[in-house]
Amino acid sequence: MCGDAVSAARSPATKCAVQSIITNRFTTSNRVGQLRAGGDCRLPLRALYSDPHRPWGLWAGLGKRVVEDFRQIIARDQAKAPFFVGVDLGGTNIKVGVVDDEGRTLLKRKQPTNSPAGPEDGARRMGQAVCDALAELGLKPDDVPRVGLGSPGTMDVPAGMLLEPHNLQGWFDFPIRDRVAEHSGFPVSFANDANAAAFGEYWVGAGSDYTSMVMLTLGTGIGCGIIIDDLLIDGENSHGAECGHIIIDLDDDARVCGCGQPGHLEAYCSAPHVVRRTEETLAGGRASTLRARIAAGQTLTPLMLAEEAESGDAVSREIVLETARFLGIGIVTLLHTIDPAGVVLGGAMTFGRNEAPLGRAFRERIEEEIRRRAFPVIAERIKLDYASLGGDAGYIGAAGIARRDWRKLANA
Ligand SMILES: [Zn+2]
Repeated sequence: MCGDAVSAARSPATKCAVQSIITNRFTTSNRVGQLRAGGDCRLPLRALYSDPHRPWGLWAGLGKRVVEDFRQIIARDQAKAPFFVGVDLGGTNIKVGVVDDEGRTLLKRKQPTNSPAGPEDGARRMGQAVCDALAELGLKPDDVPRVGLGSPGTMDVPAGMLLEPHNLQGWFDFPIRDRVAEHSGFPVSFANDANAAAFGEYWVGAGSDYTSMVMLTLGTGIGCGIIIDDLLIDGENSHGAECGHIIIDLDDDARVCGCGQPGHLEAYCSAPHVVRRTEETLAGGRASTLRARIAAGQTLTPLMLAEEAESGDAVSREIVLETARFLGIGIVTLLHTIDPAGVVLGGAMTFGRNEAPLGRAFRERIEEEIRRRAFPVIAERIKLDYASLGGDAGYIGAAGIARRDWRKLANA
């Protein structure tokens, strides 16, 4: 049990922390650093999105890399106690980060999830990773009041249970929160991964000026987190804030969402559906520079779409901006439901964000749709922008939720 490991700081005889099983460190990129330091981007899209460590997938690399690599690590003597550990459990990787009381990262690590090994093995390695991280920093158990864990759903948040997570086959009906707590030796706060990412942006990212915000994560699906003051809208059955399933199309021939229902936002704006809409447009016979690349054997992805749109291909640009229009329609429903201070767009499919002309056009098209459809006072005041924490949002948010819970308990 990692409670033993954490006491490694007290007892040198316990070496759990020293022999880290985590070997996959985050990489850094000077090019990205130069890009951010230089302000406005003049680099081509390929340079913006290039990721030598990860092959192109359906949407891999779209705009995400820029921020992910640039999160600063602060030194222990610059940090403010207490410290919190955030664990971001994903279908592919587990990320673990230690942050200070102001949400600044002291250390982050990741390792493969290796989901076929099962949830108990995963819980054990997450607990171990927490211990390793603390020992690497020389932190004592008393320095860390609580750990946060963000996980894919479906889940039962109050019970700390995974139910049937699509990205973690076989990790069904598993008490993940309590198992990680036992293996780490710390009390654990548990959250949906999209909510955790939203909380990270709310705490120290693009939403840090807001008292209420919605975050939409655009990728293979559409994740969502809603935060009002410090409260995450988990819902009565841990299925709240599933905004990817807002209905935007009532037609009989509406597109069918991955959940099986027709007309949902995700069926128009998630990466696989953006690709599908593009394929249908091409099947209609319009000229496009996409055709040559597909004929050459390349896979049609949102990245390819973005590159061709930036190069002047009308079809590609139309698809991207049509995606923004659909998204804007969905967001208007959220604005009329919640009336938040801000909307934050994160995830891999954000077309280069504000650093790229296409990313700016994407955002402006969403704003245009909001102006067209929302109550004037909302349309006038809502702030919409891209997320700023990239791939760090999940563990930072999980740590932030742990901090929130600890503070509430301390004041109770
Ligand atoms: Zn759906």
